[in-house]
Parts: sequence; C-alpha cells; structure tokens
Amino acid sequence: MTNAGISTESQVRPRQALDKLKPYTAGKPIWEVQREYGLDRVIKLASNENSLGPSPKAMQAIREKVTELHRYPDERSSGLVGALAESFGLPNESFLVTNGGDELIMLLSKAYVEPGDEIVVPDPTFSEYEFGSLLMAGQAVKVPLRERFSYDADALLAAVTDKTKIVYLCTPNNPTGTYLPEPEMRRLLDSLPPRVLVVVDAAYRHYATADDYSDGLAFVREGYPVVSLHTFSKIYGLAGIRVGYGVARGDIVRTMLKVKEPFNVNALADVAAQAALTDEEHLEASVRMNDEGRRQLYEGLGKLRIPYTESMSNFVLAELGEHTGRIYGQLLERGVILRSGKGWGLNEHVRITVGTREENEELLKALGELYG
Ligand SMILES: *Cc1c(COP(=O)(O)O)cnc(C)c1O
Repeated sequence: MTNAGISTESQVRPRQALDKLKPYTAGKPIWEVQREYGLDRVIKLASNENSLGPSPKAMQAIREKVTELHRYPDERSSGLVGALAESFGLPNESFLVTNGGDELIMLLSKAYVEPGDEIVVPDPTFSEYEFGSLLMAGQAVKVPLRERFSYDADALLAAVTDKTKIVYLCTPNNPTGTYLPEPEMRRLLDSLPPRVLVVVDAAYRHYATADDYSDGLAFVREGYPVVSLHTFSKIYGLAGIRVGYGVARGDIVRTMLKVKEPFNVNALADVAAQAALTDEEHLEASVRMNDEGRRQLYEGLGKLRIPYTESMSNFVLAELGEHTGRIYGQLLERGVILRSGKGWGLNEHVRITVGTREENEELLKALGELYG
C-alpha cells in the first residue's frame, strides 16, 4: 500500500524492544470480581495493600489541598524531600521523589541501561526491573533463589559480567517474603566492581523484623553506589495516589533527575506523603496488624497442612499444590482475591496479602473448605 489510507493494522513499526515486553499482571480489582460473580462483599488480599486504609492524616492533607489544584505541583516535591532528609538525617540532594516506586525503576532504567546492557535480578522477584531494562533494549539475567527461596549472594555475583549495569536486590523479596541479610549484602557490595549500581528495593522494609535486615540506607550513607527504593503504596496505604522515592548519593540522584518528567508527582500525593510520614499511630497500628495477621496465617495454614514460606513482609507465599488453579478460581467465586503465582512461574503457589483479622479468618475458612 502506498497511500495513507485506513487499514486495520498500523504500518508504523514500533521499537523492536517492545516485542519482548510482557504487560504487568496486576491483582484483580475488587469491582471486577463484584461484577463477574455478582458479589457485594469482596476481600482483596492480592496486591499487598494496607487493609487498614490510608493514613487519616494523609486523607486530611488531601482534603486541604484540593482548592489549590489549579496550580502545578512542586517540581521536585521539596517539602517532602525536606521532611525525608530530616527524618533520615541525610542531605536533600540524596532524595528523589517519584510517581510510585515503579517510576523510580523506570528512571533508573532510562538513566543507566544502554541497549545490550544487563541487569541481574533474583528469580522470582518483582517484574518491573526486567520490564524497565527490556524497554531500554537491555536484558535481565535471572538468578534463581535457593531452596526455600533464600538469597544466593554467590550466584548473584557469578552472574555479573562486563555488561552488567544494575543488580536489583528486592528485600524483603516480592513474592517470597525472604530477605538478604546485612552481612551478605555487604559482602556482595564489596565484591562487585564499582561500575555496577545496586538497587535495594525496600518497599516492605517496615514489616521486616530480623535483626540483620538491611534496607540499604546504611550503605548509601557509607557512600556505596546504592539506591534504596521506598514507597508510600504499602504500609502508608497510599497505593492509589502513586508516590515513592529513592535514596542515593547526590551524583546518582542528579543523573536520574535528568530523565525525570517535570511534574512527575501530583500535588495531592506530595502533601499526602508528607502527612503520612508524621502519622506514627497509623504506622504502628499497621505493623501490629501485620505481625498478628502473619502469625494468624502461619497458624491457620499450618493447621491445614499447607506449606508456606516465612515472610519478612506483609504477604505470605503458600504452596497449594496441583489444585492451585481450581482453588484460586473457587476463592474468587467466593469473593476472596489472592495473587496467583503463575506470573512468576510458581504454578502451585499463591501469594496472600496479610489482611485484617476478619479478612484472614474468612480466607482461612474458605481454604479449609476448598483445600485437600
Ligand atoms: C509495590 C512495590 C513497589 C512499588 O510500588 P509503587 O506502588 O509503584 O510505589 C516496588 N517494589 C516492590 C517489590 C513492590 O512490591
């Protein structure tokens, strides 16, 4: 065809890198399950959200900001940067506020990954690291976790080549809940060539109770080429408004700022996050709910003889075996949404977000009727 007439498919060739991209599989939304199965009450334990809801202080801050929505947001979220800098005792230049932690991963990819570059990731883990590198025509080298999904620092090191640009350490790791102990992280960092950037994804750091847990901040302070990733989507209960941040040396932050859109964080997210930071009551209640809920799930799963992986996070990976697909579907019919392990190649697992006592109880009751 030579003319620019209308055909059913566009003749415009998208970038080749897009051929390899797999779309993100999100947790099923509540409205969809309500509509599909004609249900009123639906329990969503699929996306590691905070079942307690948003911080009330954040909600109040949003209400107060609404009348100013005709103004562009603060280009660098300087109020939030200042608050973070003060709470961590680090300079302002160490912080980069983003449209969720996901945007930080995209900025890292855009700023550092050249075509043909490699990133090293544990497997299974959060899919956005690979997405970001594929989009930049790089590729992900996947290093399997060991038995019981524990981290293998030596295998990660062995996967590093001349092409490696970034090593991603998701700790606690999504979807396994396992973590990389601090001494292992230090050994890894000390063994890596200095041209490799290490991203410590600490999205779930508040839930980790192990004494030797590290969110990577200590290494940022020591001057390592480390980016520590944080989000307001999980314990702060603000997933819907999209805000997260990275902490790193000033030179690394400046590099990422080069590829940032001017108004990446909206005005409501900015003030909501600032308010959430001051809401210790909400934070403590959320930690408490999670500690109790995690124990409740361990106990309930144990009674049902369902194997699970002990978690440092707000979710538990459970092994339902060969009938996982059926059980997952039947739970949906009853209005309980879990995350299927399929996306991670874990066909016999589900990831269960820790909910309120009542939510966990309902899930365990349903599992008791469907499992075995
Ligand atoms: C949820 C999550 C994030 C960040 O999510 P945002 O909603 O984009 O802030 C980052 N890493 C991991 C491992 C996560 O589970």
